Amino acid sequence: MLRISASMAKLTPLFSILTHSHRPFLTSSSTLKHTFNRCAFILSINATINTLAAQTPNSRDNDNSSSKGTIKVSARTRRKNHQESPEGILQKQLNNCSKSGDVIQALNLYDEARKLGVVLNVEHYNKILYLCSVQIGDNDGDNDNVSVSHSGLERGFEIFQQMLNDQVEPNEATFTNAARVAAAKDDPDMAFELLKQMKNFEIVPRLRSYGPALFGFCKRGDAVKAYEVDADMIESGVMAEEDELSALLEVSVEVENEDKVYEMLHRLRAVVRQVSESTLKIIEDWFRSEYAMKIGKREWDVEKIREGFVRGGGGWHGQGWLGSGQWKVVKTNVDEDGTCLSCSEKLVSIDIDPKETENFAASLSKLACQKQPKANFSHFQEWLEKNGPFDAVVDGANVGLANIAHFSFSQLDYVVRQLRELSPSKRLPLIILHMNRVTGGPAQSPNNRRLIENWKKNGVLYATPYGSNDDWYWLYAAVSCKCLLLTNDEMRDHLFQLLGSSFFPRWKEKHQVRVSASKRGVSLVLPPRYSLVIQESANGSWHVPTVSSDDPDIPRKWLCVTRSMKNSSHNLQTSTSTSDEEEAVL
Ligand SMILES: [Zn+2]
Repeated sequence: MLRISASMAKLTPLFSILTHSHRPFLTSSSTLKHTFNRCAFILSINATINTLAAQTPNSRDNDNSSSKGTIKVSARTRRKNHQESPEGILQKQLNNCSKSGDVIQALNLYDEARKLGVVLNVEHYNKILYLCSVQIGDNDGDNDNVSVSHSGLERGFEIFQQMLNDQVEPNEATFTNAARVAAAKDDPDMAFELLKQMKNFEIVPRLRSYGPALFGFCKRGDAVKAYEVDADMIESGVMAEEDELSALLEVSVEVENEDKVYEMLHRLRAVVRQVSESTLKIIEDWFRSEYAMKIGKREWDVEKIREGFVRGGGGWHGQGWLGSGQWKVVKTNVDEDGTCLSCSEKLVSIDIDPKETENFAASLSKLACQKQPKANFSHFQEWLEKNGPFDAVVDGANVGLANIAHFSFSQLDYVVRQLRELSPSKRLPLIILHMNRVTGGPAQSPNNRRLIENWKKNGVLYATPYGSNDDWYWLYAAVSCKCLLLTNDEMRDHLFQLLGSSFFPRWKEKHQVRVSASKRGVSLVLPPRYSLVIQESANGSWHVPTVSSDDPDIPRKWLCVTRSMKNSSHNLQTSTSTSDEEEAVL
């Protein structure tokens, strides 16, 4: 049931300022945006520049000297002057408050600055607004902290209004921080209004901009408003992630909106794939609820379900809840063939579109050329063109060091041979190693020297040049050869984050081979033969994987959800066929 919050009816005074007749500034914001009076700020900059000119040693005498040298000195002096100006000092002090979370000190600094006529810029305001939105001592019973938090919230809007009155141009952070203040005051309506105002200012909202309104409505149990925020997010091209989808799922369960629960499960499948423990709990609660028992089609068109699988690429049909009666909810594991150990259903392997792989390889190449010396990377691409394709690529440094303290060529050689056995053409994999590893240290021992020479002779060793990051090389080689990649690197650092979250995780799941070490030695852990993604079956069952630890020996936990199948058709083939590409891979 919808809970109507009293705060909806009773709008805060500032909210009414911003939404009704008394919002002279914001109502015509799109035109006002271009008429900001930047005079004060420009005057301040001019003052700094004038002071600078006066203070630069020999600035007049050096008119004919190297202009480059003068600019260098000027830039440094300008920076110093800015730091020493009242505005610069205020910024530094606010930064310190931000580090220590001292909202009271920040408010004192703000009051002092205004008294002294210091010209506050958008950075100053953003810092203060951020501090005002931080909930200190939330519900921990500490009265001092509660009052600190309270004064921050009380003053937040006053300061935001002052900023607008002073015609300081707000940016995304300003609106997001103001929306956070609204959310901290349990006023998601205002947070949402601020978001709309941000768009009026032609400022592109980010995912974080939606958080205050979305989580605020979800917390209040106001599903209708939460869906409105969600629709706005979709319209703005902002992709909800697990936290947002999870909150929308929870509020949908709460208000017993089965269509939205179904939609959120599918969106979690598409975007998140494997869920965290907290999301799993919400899914579990839904299937165990009395309401979920009552929903579902008793009869359905098997042909439509089949079409749904084909259209969706496998793993889901999208035709709604199937079956009737109580759901059986079990936490279980899946064996290496993809068979659920609870209901014995075989999970499917969802293919990757070859066109998607090609596009990804092209964008990866472009990124690598930007991030690495271009000549080096182009040389590698030419080399790969001449010596490839390969059935597998080895991140040599990672594998030579897997589970041991010192780099071992014999360990590397061992897994290289194992990969050759797996290769349909029995070809050695491509080994990527940094130049340092190929020339110095253990590489100098006669045995290792022979090994390296043999790899070189076979055209399977590429030594990445000094100053390069070999991650780009092994990843590019594996993606462009559409082949296996041997590394224990979880590929989560900054470089891999540049690759986005839509294609790369799917590629990684299907192509990454890991090295596992035990007392019996090292062995290869091949990619799973089924997709680690929420799966919906033709008979209406669900299988939900959780995120697992990086240790391949700890089995992943799955939620298996089934129900009595009086009207179901079990003979429907749910596995999608393995494409030529995947057959070549395995
Ligand atoms: Zn099962």
